Amino acid sequence: MSGLALFGGRPVRAKPFPGYNTICREEKQAVMKVLDTGLLSDFVGAYGDKFFGGVQVQRLEKQWCEYFNFKHSIAVNSATSGLFAALGAIGIGPGDEVIVPAASMSASIIGVLVYNAIPVFADIEEELLCIDPESVRQRITSRTKAILAVNLAGQPAALDELLAIARKYNLRVIEDNAQAPGALCNGKYVGTIGDIGVFSLNCHKTIQSGEGGMVTTNNTELAHKVRLIRNHAEAVIAGMPALPDDISNMLGWNYRMTEIEAAISQEQLKKLSGLNQERIKRVNYLNQKLNKIKGISPPKVRSGCTHVYYVQVLHFDEKCYGVDNRTFVKAIQAEGISPNMLWGGWVFTLYLQPLYQKQIAYGKKGCPFTCAYYGSKVDYRKGICPTAEKLYEHDLIVNRLIYPPLSQNDLDDIVRIFEKVAENTKDLRK
Ligand SMILES: *Cc1c(COP(=O)(O)O)cnc(C)c1O
Repeated sequence: MSGLALFGGRPVRAKPFPGYNTICREEKQAVMKVLDTGLLSDFVGAYGDKFFGGVQVQRLEKQWCEYFNFKHSIAVNSATSGLFAALGAIGIGPGDEVIVPAASMSASIIGVLVYNAIPVFADIEEELLCIDPESVRQRITSRTKAILAVNLAGQPAALDELLAIARKYNLRVIEDNAQAPGALCNGKYVGTIGDIGVFSLNCHKTIQSGEGGMVTTNNTELAHKVRLIRNHAEAVIAGMPALPDDISNMLGWNYRMTEIEAAISQEQLKKLSGLNQERIKRVNYLNQKLNKIKGISPPKVRSGCTHVYYVQVLHFDEKCYGVDNRTFVKAIQAEGISPNMLWGGWVFTLYLQPLYQKQIAYGKKGCPFTCAYYGSKVDYRKGICPTAEKLYEHDLIVNRLIYPPLSQNDLDDIVRIFEKVAENTKDLRK
């Protein structure tokens, strides 16, 4: 009889792992100060002083620019809306194609559809998991307007190579940097290596204010457009002294960050570097131990870059054990790791979602895929990005248990769990 907890054996770990909570006295005090003013948000959706937000929002934006050495940082209410604003600012519209990675969180690319443009999926790199520049090259057509790179799992995408492609074909590069705040590429912070970048401050990210995001760019015109889109552009432009030359995509939503979120985010940013170091330390320890287990390979880091480990993504070789990643993971979870903390596969292979398979987005008529300005047919069939599909279905294991205050003992429990399951895979094959 097997000792695996999955089959009734005693689990390695009985008590739950500690949670991640970086909200302390500093954040509490910052919130109380805002509450005392009574100004929980201080935006006005008309051109004038208050168009740019309240004291805390403007302070956060300045602090963000100084920390990362970016020219412009614009606070928004989520990275999802930040991505919408960024795509609007670079002028994406009907008939355009934007090349996006096959694997990411769904929100990375949904903004492309919001502007009635077509996401074209490129495959990901087998080892490093970000959008594969070679696959991007194969997807370029006369309709391509931009490349959306996601710095996935804390790892910068191949930004230099993507920028070289973009320069050659006159494309814009957007960075979804929700998962890699503080990662470096050749000594520069990612987020504005491309034309425009987006950070997330949602509750799952390394630093957070519950919900929130930042759009960052060194391009003054793009920054201006993002500020307009954030705050009712159409009404604001009507009140501006001179109309901008290009008012396309100047439909404004309300993507405004509150003063409370901005105050919390300032305190969180001060902790970012320390929190990243804590994660890196834990991942390095786990990597060194898990690397000794047959069939498990720890993540690799792109040359010239740093990795800040939003999660630890392990490669699992199913040929070693004759079971797939999901079966292996089920046994791991039974030993005392919650499925929220460790799972098989990585974020979805996006084009396999019903939205893309059925090509139903706006209304029931297939817009924007059937839009007359598009005049082409996009391919979302299974098989178009074989590496992303293979990694999701057979290979990757994602571990979130890499944060402070996890102790040496906690990490050793994780290693013991992997060792125990690896030693007993013969029982999983039955
Ligand atoms: C979290 C996340 C987002 C969305 O962030 P929100 O702030 O929740 O809108 C987008 N892209 C990636 C890669 C993410 O991880």
